[in-house]
Amino acid sequence: MSTQEHDTAEGASADPRKISVDVVVVGAGTSGCYAAATIANEGYDVAIVERKTEDEAGHIACGDALKGANDFPDAIPKSKIEPAFTNTEVDHGRFEIPQEDTILDIPVPGELAVIDRWEYGRLIIEGADEAGVEFYYDTVVQDVLQDDDGTATGIRGKRKGERVQFDADIVIDGAGSLSLLQDKVDFSDSTFDTNVSYSHFSSAYREVVEVEDPVEWSDALVFKPAKIAAGYVWYFPRTDTTINAGLGFQMSEEPMKLVEDLKEDLRNREEFQGAEVVDKLGAALPTRRPYDSATAPGYMAIGDAAAHVNPTTGGGIAGAAYAGSYAGEQAVIALEEGDVSEEMLWRYNQRVMDHFGGRYASLDVYNILSTAVDVDDLMGLIASMPGEKLAEALYSGTTSFGPLLLLQTAASSFGHWRQILNFYRVKQLADELLTHYERYPSRPSALAGWQDERDRIMDDIYELTGADPKY
Ligand SMILES: Cc1cc2nc3c(=O)[nH]c(=O)nc-3n(C[C@H](O)[C@H](O)[C@H](O)COP(=O)(O)OP(=O)(O)OC[C@H]3O[C@@H](n4cnc5c(N)ncnc54)[C@H](O)[C@@H]3O)c2cc1C
Repeated sequence: MSTQEHDTAEGASADPRKISVDVVVVGAGTSGCYAAATIANEGYDVAIVERKTEDEAGHIACGDALKGANDFPDAIPKSKIEPAFTNTEVDHGRFEIPQEDTILDIPVPGELAVIDRWEYGRLIIEGADEAGVEFYYDTVVQDVLQDDDGTATGIRGKRKGERVQFDADIVIDGAGSLSLLQDKVDFSDSTFDTNVSYSHFSSAYREVVEVEDPVEWSDALVFKPAKIAAGYVWYFPRTDTTINAGLGFQMSEEPMKLVEDLKEDLRNREEFQGAEVVDKLGAALPTRRPYDSATAPGYMAIGDAAAHVNPTTGGGIAGAAYAGSYAGEQAVIALEEGDVSEEMLWRYNQRVMDHFGGRYASLDVYNILSTAVDVDDLMGLIASMPGEKLAEALYSGTTSFGPLLLLQTAASSFGHWRQILNFYRVKQLADELLTHYERYPSRPSALAGWQDERDRIMDDIYELTGADPKY
């Protein structure tokens, strides 16, 4: 695969090199590759602009766990990415709770795989390339162009010291967490969510570690509480001897020393004696609700750039792939209609909210709760809950604690009753929030009214949990 450079026109020496396409996508991650492939599959000109080199592209900090591996958008054929699925035997979460001297094995619904993340990254790039996407590596996007009425018309950046400009009908921002593009766009004529702060993100770090003997838990995703409530340590087996080990914490909390804390945890585990670290990477990831709106005229944000991540687990690959596909499909409709207004792009927001956005927003309530409770209390509570219900709470957002279950749980969890009752009430509010997201508006002009009602539910959540308002 080589970087293409057609459609270029040299301007005067002070002018940037100009490239014209139908759609420019920033970022060769999951969201960008799926968006661009979707558009290229329909025969439109689409470029992906990526700051990394061609060799380094696809190398992303990740825990390597892919949830919903069976149900992935088909803009890039699944057969293309399957070779990167190195462990498809994983079927449950193993929650280690040292405070309670407990290990909980909790089934994870849906297909699960642990993947060789870099290989997967290369394969989706290859898939998008085969769909007809043009890749421009070593190109750092520095600015977004807008016309007088605020419609995005392209981007500007630097490629190996040379200024470049991409003119496009639509700009798709797949530049990941804390996307720089969003600092450059004037969103005042749009509903685009600008209520975004560092405290909504987690800082996470992982190492890929090779151990001498196969681990016993090669069919499980292992989770362990970190030293602070709003964080966890994970061990995800790529194979039975190659483990992705990492940890993260919500940036609203007291910072953890990620590298040292991980080292300490590895040192204390027998499985990792004599192990070799073969790769290290860290990054920020959004552990917040999805953006209320990720559209502006001529502009859509996808994946981490719009917080399309399960905020309780940090899983964002599937959300990024779907958001990319939905944005790509909407871009195609907009190009066909010759209309890139926010009203035209809005359907993209609706599809995200319908599919997973509402669920992720309701799961964020448990994150908010976790910042307001003591880690030992929380672990005691979790240890006392039935595994399947906890799994539902984590993955479906629709757990229902009927009175009988509540009594049974309470009987086995003497000492945690108050927290359980509190948790039950929090859960009712999370469900109310989910129902409200099911009423996500069908047009941008109705967003403000919908947000007012949502914020009322959030106020009740802050009051009940005692947590500081997150948004
Ligand atoms: C430590 C860690 C562990 C995680 N573990 C998991 C996990 O186990 N399972 C899971 O599903 N998810 C996990 N996630 C989340 C997951 O990695 C992301 O949700 C997913 O990669 C998002 O894809 P994306 O395409 O939106 O963004 P990214 O994959 O971040 O891609 C963004 C791309 O944009 C490029 N870019 C950024 N700025 C510019 C610019 N100015 N100009 C040009 N290019 C630019 C970047 O170089 C990058 O290639 C984890 C995240 C972290 C940080």
